[in-house]
Amino acid sequence: MLTDKFGRRVNYVRLSITDRCDFRCTYCMAEEMTFLPRQEVMSLEECLRIASVFVSMGVNKLRLTGGEPLVRKNVLWLIERLGELPGLDNLVLTTNGSQLDRFAPALKAAGVKRLNVSLDTLKPARFREITRIGDLDKVLRGITAASHAGFRRTKLNTVMMRGINDDEFVDLVRYAVNHALDISFIEEMPLGDIQGRSSTYISSEETRARLSSHFDLLPSTENSGGPARYWRIPQSESRIGFISPHSHNFCDTCNRVRITARGELYPCLGQNDALQLLPALRSGASDDQLRQIIMDSMGIKPFGHDFTQQMDAPQVVRFMSMTGG
Ligand code: SAM
Ligand code: SF4
Repeated sequence: MLTDKFGRRVNYVRLSITDRCDFRCTYCMAEEMTFLPRQEVMSLEECLRIASVFVSMGVNKLRLTGGEPLVRKNVLWLIERLGELPGLDNLVLTTNGSQLDRFAPALKAAGVKRLNVSLDTLKPARFREITRIGDLDKVLRGITAASHAGFRRTKLNTVMMRGINDDEFVDLVRYAVNHALDISFIEEMPLGDIQGRSSTYISSEETRARLSSHFDLLPSTENSGGPARYWRIPQSESRIGFISPHSHNFCDTCNRVRITARGELYPCLGQNDALQLLPALRSGASDDQLRQIIMDSMGIKPFGHDFTQQMDAPQVVRFMSMTGG
């Protein structure tokens, strides 16, 4: 059982399996990115080993993320093996949706329980501007393919940006309701050296107030143990979530740690402290030695992060694509 020094039980790992991506979302990456050299990135076997060690310590939920996890070569090899790990009840994946139309059935067959798909706009030209490369139609086809493959309650993730997509929040909620999806609105976080965030920042409170004039939002008691707070719309199964790293500190119930594609273990998204798993793994560490490093990380898991509204200065120097969202 993994428990940190504040008594919080950690049963959830977010594992970034690549820092690469087929999009370049403006809030997540710089236009010109330098990606990690291949030898610095964990092999799929190393990802599996780390995941297995965490599961042996009571972790029962694992989210694959990135970068874009579905652009990693042979990703299905890993997912199929993770799907067979006894004790891992909840294997989930966050994706930009670009490859979902071809991967959805195989992901379902491999035991992936649920998908999060990032979607900030329903307008093709705007989608191209935000992602710098992406094709909206392909992502929407991916969302449909996921539903045909049997995925239920797929969750859309929408980063809120004033003057960029805030005129579409109502349409995005309608899209979610019409397609039996959930949707979470995310406050933009100051990760990576990206300028101009303070002019686009919108709080969850403001978005919720704006949505309330179009929908009857009923507070929901559901809580995933994570940072989202949920609302429901009457006569609909869809949940509307708000992830508010700035305006509501959600750290007191934090149950997760993050592993980067380089095998760094970050106990907190909003802090720069990490422990290195890859050197140990590559120098032949036993499972017990890896478990010891993981136990040690519980000692440096801080009580919380402290993102301020100073959005133009990066408060964490890593890009989100490094740590995994
Ligand atoms: N490529 C996949 C995707 O886009 O869903 C998975 C990785 S991405 C880093 C995970 C999530 O982080 C996405 O929903 C994305 O919108 C979000 N994200 C990236 N940078 C962010 C930032 N600076 N603030 C808030 N959310 C961010
Ligand atoms: Fe890629 Fe996801 Fe970052 Fe967009 S948010 S650049 S899709 S990793």
